[in-house]
Amino acid sequence: MSVREGGCACGEVRYRLTSDPLFIHCCHCLNCQRQTGSAFVINLLIETDRVELLAGDPQPVDAPRDDGSAQRIFRCPTCQVAVFSQYGRPEVRFVRGGTLDDPTTVTPDVHIFTRSKVKWVTLPESTPAFEVYYDAKELWPAASLERLDAVFKS
Ligand SMILES: [Zn+2]
Ligand SMILES: [Zn+2]
Repeated sequence: MSVREGGCACGEVRYRLTSDPLFIHCCHCLNCQRQTGSAFVINLLIETDRVELLAGDPQPVDAPRDDGSAQRIFRCPTCQVAVFSQYGRPEVRFVRGGTLDDPTTVTPDVHIFTRSKVKWVTLPESTPAFEVYYDAKELWPAASLERLDAVFKS
């Protein structure tokens, strides 16, 4: 297990992940591209109670998505860098990989929404990739599925 830390640009928000993530997404959807201003986002899916805030108080901002829903993005109140977000259930956070102190310590477990992937990004053959989404039950390690079950039951 690796303990990872990260934070915003100004240093006000600092967090620690108290375990490895459940799974790591690289999302190429247009919402993620627009929100980040980049070609994709790296999201570490992890239980909310395993994201330990060391400093600061990230504030939720609801960003509209193309399907009419909103995505709750937590930002540093001072520099406004997005450190994590929430899709649907509040028990799971999507921590933004680029805010880790060492982003090279994580590698995507899956590439999703590749239908809108920019053409100049070439994906590794060894990592599963999906035009849209995938079935977590087929792809996630059993231990991660158990952890998710546990947090939804509690
Ligand atoms: Zn900040
Ligand atoms: Zn996305």
